[in-house]
Amino acid sequence: MSPASSPGSSALSPRARDDALRALGSTGPNRHELDVLVVGGGVVGTGTALDAVTRGLSVGLVEQRDLASGTSSRSSKLVHGGLRYLEMLDFGLVREALAERGLLLTRLAPHLVRPVRFVYPLTHHVWERGYVGSGLVLYDAMAAASRTGPGLPRHKHLSRRRARQVVPDLDPSAFTGAIEYHDAQVDDARLVVTIARTAASYGAHIATRTKVVGFLREGERVTGVRAVDLETGAELAVHARVVVNAAGVWTDELQQMVGGRGALNVQASKGVHLVVPRDRIRSSAGLITRTPVSLLFVVPWGRHWIIGTTDTPWNLDKAHPAASRRDIDYLLEQVNRILREPLGHEDVEGVYAGLRPLASGQSEPTSRISREHTVVTPVPGLVIVAGGKLTTYRVMGRDAVDAAAHSLGGTVPASITERVPLAGAAGFEPRSNQCEALAESSGLHRARVEHLLGRYGGLVDELLALVADRPELADPLRGAEDYLRAEVVYAVTHEGARHLDDVLTRRTRISIETFDRGVAAARPAADLMAGALGWEADRVEDEVDHYLRRVEAERRSQRELSDLEADEARVAAPDIV
Ligand SMILES: Cc1cc2nc3c(=O)[nH]c(=O)nc-3n(C[C@H](O)[C@H](O)[C@H](O)COP(=O)(O)OP(=O)(O)OC[C@H]3O[C@@H](n4cnc5c(N)ncnc54)[C@H](O)[C@@H]3O)c2cc1C
Repeated sequence: MSPASSPGSSALSPRARDDALRALGSTGPNRHELDVLVVGGGVVGTGTALDAVTRGLSVGLVEQRDLASGTSSRSSKLVHGGLRYLEMLDFGLVREALAERGLLLTRLAPHLVRPVRFVYPLTHHVWERGYVGSGLVLYDAMAAASRTGPGLPRHKHLSRRRARQVVPDLDPSAFTGAIEYHDAQVDDARLVVTIARTAASYGAHIATRTKVVGFLREGERVTGVRAVDLETGAELAVHARVVVNAAGVWTDELQQMVGGRGALNVQASKGVHLVVPRDRIRSSAGLITRTPVSLLFVVPWGRHWIIGTTDTPWNLDKAHPAASRRDIDYLLEQVNRILREPLGHEDVEGVYAGLRPLASGQSEPTSRISREHTVVTPVPGLVIVAGGKLTTYRVMGRDAVDAAAHSLGGTVPASITERVPLAGAAGFEPRSNQCEALAESSGLHRARVEHLLGRYGGLVDELLALVADRPELADPLRGAEDYLRAEVVYAVTHEGARHLDDVLTRRTRISIETFDRGVAAARPAADLMAGALGWEADRVEDEVDHYLRRVEAERRSQRELSDLEADEARVAAPDIV
């Protein structure tokens, strides 16, 4: 398999998917056998594909739905060391995550990952300030000691008065003072698409809507997978020297296809977030506070706040975890404990639920339980990687490929991903400095260009070329005016979007950022996609209809009290393929 033309230039175009499927389908034990096939297009799978392809291995990746359609678009969107782990005295894990935070902020994805300031309101006098403060001294020290240096400002103690200036809407009776510290945030779905694009630019073959339904075996050894192209129903056999199962909460289903005793157990735990408009909470920083069972984050998100999260076991539909009325009430109750003006259901613009893949290993001889994530080789030719978090995806990818390298034999070079910037990182700084000039030459408002830079980095040139070519695409998208019409077209031509849901839910975040959950934007967006994908009128109708049914099913599920009822309401609108 030969690498793609030139690194950084590759697009996940509709044609690229066809080419990827052709390349995957033409593998065989005696010709073009892949070195590594990754199952799962979340942050872990795409991170693994990038790690493998940049070591010089030939790589394929199959994803049953859209990139990041599982857990990796439904997180709290923080790139963080995890203060929680500090309290559990898991210093290794915190140090590792802080090092990754530094790498992402400075080298790998400075266009996507940005600092965020948090205020931690203190509710007890004296002891709490000492306790939280000493934890943050350690947190800052670990970040400073990592290869990428301090990066973010150190924490600061705030008086009660100062805290009220920073967060005017904190309920004065709910705190005695505060501490300010910094972490980082990212649009998780964009991170995944960007990792996938980067991997494709080095030659990885990436096929979405392609589901693994079985494994190829030679004796005990796994030699590839059987997969179905869900868009055509065509079956394909993909031969690979090693298959990496990076299927998140679906890990066990794939293990069952291999048969035998499962090497790992992956439990799902549901986490729900609410999105509210920025003006509903007056604050120039995010908030973090304790709940009876864990932590609650209020994270600034463009013109919105994200409030989360819950943590409850989930054994129902994995593809569409549903938020119930009880989840929403709980989050509102927790956030209202610290706010001067309580939030109500009418303030909620968006709701989303995701499933944490919690891995617990069984004592396989080949198993390597590495802090929070786990990598095992249950049978020759198969590696399973599970657990972990968004922040440490690169480490998980590296560890999975290290395990694969044992099966590959010979000399596989060491991981180099800590030195491989993601697509769009190059050119981000100069283009940011040229923001004013770009605004002038493109005719777009400066704020628009900043918005584009924060989503595409140096690849903004491609967006602007599209606008220069088709000036009508410079207009805002009707129904979701924070986005340009060009972004919908670009999502299809360069970012692998194939359905309306991909564009409204993951390439943009319109489905959680508008009170109508993207209903008004659905038709204008579908019409733009039609031009890029050659859809006929009835296909446009289908896509819009499906999207509206999905929104309605989600709304219905969010009125139900229990998980069971919420799930029943949500599964009434299945995926479109
Ligand atoms: C509520 C919540 C908040 C979180 N907040 C944070 C945070 O702020 N910061 C942080 O660092 N981490 C956070 N995390 C953790 C982080 O989001 C996850 O650890 C990470 O996204 C998991 O990625 P993954 O690739 O393992 O799984 P997924 O993203 O679920 O990817 C697995 C993929 O495999 C595909 N797949 C499954 N079966 C098949 C098959 N048969 N064929 C083909 N494809 C298949 C699925 O469709 C899916 O896309 C949070 C998680 C949750 C739930």
